[in-house]
Parts: sequence; C-alpha cells; structure tokens
Amino acid sequence: MKAMYSTGAALLLASAAAQPVQAHDGHVQDLTTEQQIAINIYQDIIAFRTARGHQQVPAMVSYLTAWLKGEGFADEDVMVTNYDSDGEPTQGLVVRYRGDGSSGKKPLVLLAHMDVVDALPEDWERPPFKLIIEDDYFFGRGTLDNKYGVMNLTQTFLRLKREGWTPNRDLYLVFSGDEETGMISTRAQAKWVAENVDPEFVLNSDAGGLALADDYTPMAMRVQAAEKTFATWELTITNPGGHSSRPRSDNAIYELADALTRVRDHKFPVRATALTRSYFAALGQSVPGDLGAAMRTFADEPENSEAIAMLQSNPETVGTVGTTCIATMLRAGHAENALPQSATATVNCRIFPGVGAAATEAKLKEVVGNDNVAFNLITDVTESPESQLRDDVRAALATSLLARFGKEIPIIPYMESGGTDGMHYRTLGYDAVAISGAGSRPQDMFAHGLNERMYVDAFLNGLDHWVIMLKELAGD
Ligand SMILES: [Zn+2]
Repeated sequence: MKAMYSTGAALLLASAAAQPVQAHDGHVQDLTTEQQIAINIYQDIIAFRTARGHQQVPAMVSYLTAWLKGEGFADEDVMVTNYDSDGEPTQGLVVRYRGDGSSGKKPLVLLAHMDVVDALPEDWERPPFKLIIEDDYFFGRGTLDNKYGVMNLTQTFLRLKREGWTPNRDLYLVFSGDEETGMISTRAQAKWVAENVDPEFVLNSDAGGLALADDYTPMAMRVQAAEKTFATWELTITNPGGHSSRPRSDNAIYELADALTRVRDHKFPVRATALTRSYFAALGQSVPGDLGAAMRTFADEPENSEAIAMLQSNPETVGTVGTTCIATMLRAGHAENALPQSATATVNCRIFPGVGAAATEAKLKEVVGNDNVAFNLITDVTESPESQLRDDVRAALATSLLARFGKEIPIIPYMESGGTDGMHYRTLGYDAVAISGAGSRPQDMFAHGLNERMYVDAFLNGLDHWVIMLKELAGD
C-alpha cells in the first residue's frame, strides 16, 4: 500500500478530515501539485454525505469556501446562500472570478451540483462516502455525478488564480445544493443569475463528457444541448363500489385497465430536430448493424417508417424520436371482497422539447377517451427549449480535446432524457450546454446506482479541460 500524495503546505487546509487515498497498484504516481490538490479535494468532498436527509451540504460549502478564500478569492466574491428544500436545509455557493472587462463581453456561468443521490453503505461493495482507489478506478458516491464537476471547476479556479491569470470577462461558479431532489436552490440561483449576472451563456459540468471505448480510447465528446420535459400524472377512476358478491357493470379497476391499454398502444408523433438528426448521423457511424443503419437513415429522412420502427423498438433510442409516456405505479381497491372504490395509475412522461405538458395531457385524455378518468399532474414541470452549441464553445472544446489527446475527437450534441440544473437556465433564455471534463465507458456508468466509479486516467485527463476552455473563452 502506498500513500498517493504528500501533504504539501497547500494541502494542509484540506487535510483535517482527509485520510490518504491508497493506491494498491501504484497507478497514480509522480503527481503534479495540481493533480494532488484535485485528488485531495475530490476525496474530501466525497466524504460529505450530501444526500437529502443528512444535511451535509453546508459543511461541504464551508470546506470549498476555505479553499477559495485561501487562494485569494475575496469574501464578497464567495457567496453562500441558505435554502429550504422542502424541509431540508441546504446551501448554494456562488464564486465570482473578476475579469478585467477588456473583452467587453458578458460573464460566463459554470454549473455543478454539490448534493448526491443517497447511497446505503450496506448495499455497496465499498464504503460509498470514502474515496477508494482500486483497479485503476476511483470508487465512491459522486465520483461521477457530480462531485467530479465540483472538484474540477473548483480546482480550475484555484489553479488559474494561483497562476495569476485574469480573465477578460467575469466568470462565475454556481453550485446548487438540491439538484437531485427539489431543485429549490437551482431555481433561486438561476433567477439570481438572470437578475444579477445576465451571462452570455452557461456551461454545465453535470452531463456530456467523453464517451470511451472498451479499451478506454476516447470515441466522442458528448454535449448535452437539450433535455426532455419530465412530467408525471396520476390517472384515477372512482366508483361507488359495493359488495364483491354483487358486481356492478362498471368497475374502477377494469376501467383504469382499459385506459392504460390505450396509453400503451398510443405512439406519440415522431419528432426530429437539427440536434437529434445530427446526433443520429454521428452516432450511426459507430453503431453496428440494423440499429446503426436506422440511425443514419433517420438522420437523412426522419419520416422513414422502417427507421422509425427500429429506433422506437430500442430503449436506448426511443426517447430521442418523440415523447414517451409509460405506466410506472398502480394502486387500487381496499379489500379482497369489496368492489374497488378507486383505482389510480401513475404515468410518467418524457416530453419532447417544444411539445409542452398541457398538450401532452390533452393528448392523453383524447387517447383514453373516458371522462371518468381524472388526470392529476403531480410534477412541478419545467419546460426548457433546445440550446445551441455556439461556435465559440465548439471551437474551445475542439482546442481542449486536441490539447488533451493530440487528435481530433468528434463533438456530438445530444438531447438528454433526464434532467439537470441547465434546464432552469434554458427556461430563462440562456444557452446552457453540458460539457463535463470526465470520460466514461457505457458499462462504467453507475451514477445514482451502486458502486459509482471514475476511471483514474479519465479523472486526471479531465483536469485540464476547464482550464483550456476558460482560457479560450475568457483569455486573450
Ligand atoms: Zn447530476
């Protein structure tokens, strides 16, 4: 066993809670000071259980604040705000890196979230809130989502400050405290940013990133440029009920079952945008067989019925060609010998950008065709438009990739079926694309799940990502 880093003066600030990460195979050696600081921060912030119910976000904010102020960020430029996230106290952190204004350009805002989905130690193979290095991977909750992003953006600010670099426009880190749950802090921060910063655009660390091949070579740089709208309805039938020995002709369970069968059989209209077509065109180059052929065909002719059928039959692609709605939960009846007085199904939809929740509900009602079915929207819906991958951001990304890998890597914008902080900025009219510096193979994607991990080489390689991006976008 070998301690991975020495404790230089710069590391002492962070080392109170830290236990050294052990490298069993000596994989990580001869680290630069910047790499040591990055690993140190990563290790320390993963130790904060920033999941809902544990109230550790404020402690993590204090930790990050100490680093930033220690590197010379002024008190008034390190702003901490308290939020009540549906009864859970949390915090947000905003850090301003003052530019000299010489570019005359509006500020840039950089996003990450400090909270994580909880992880139960008894279910994990290793303790989830302790950074562990094993088999060339870092393991721990948040190693990918999104403490890598928090660490990466923070160490970038620290490093640029230490270099004495002054940007030609203001830069802001905006870290939210409840992205995985209520997004109360995100909404408030987005509003604050719009009113007080009004950035030219927003870059998010919480999605996108390098797609790695089985042998870890970089295949593509994914750029999250749009998110589907998440909306959930409860569909309820009520009925007078009665004794099950005297069945009525109408029955809440049968009526609900009929409604769900119709939802199952309905296919929402196929949608294609410039973004989804270019996504399929690019991905279709590397996906083998009929699926890859369907992607390429759809990119050229989005009305091709065979290509549509193939893409709709695949769980990995169905979400990119239109709105989907699917039954996810069911409850009905109150006794085995009574007619049901109510039956309720939960139907979760991922709505294609631009369609809207209201139009989707209207369509579902039409499909169900039964006025006895009550629809109750139970989601606080945020609808967000597609963002542009701006030419300046694309060019900066290409520079970063070329510098880090010595070759060109295809840049592929895509639409996400999940949700990130970025949607709240898109809703307010800002272009927000997610371009994580991390990289991952599909089989190593364990965000929100068990045994979340990050490949050590991808970790180290990504440390230069934001430094290069910011020098391109805010340097001379
Ligand atoms: Zn996330």
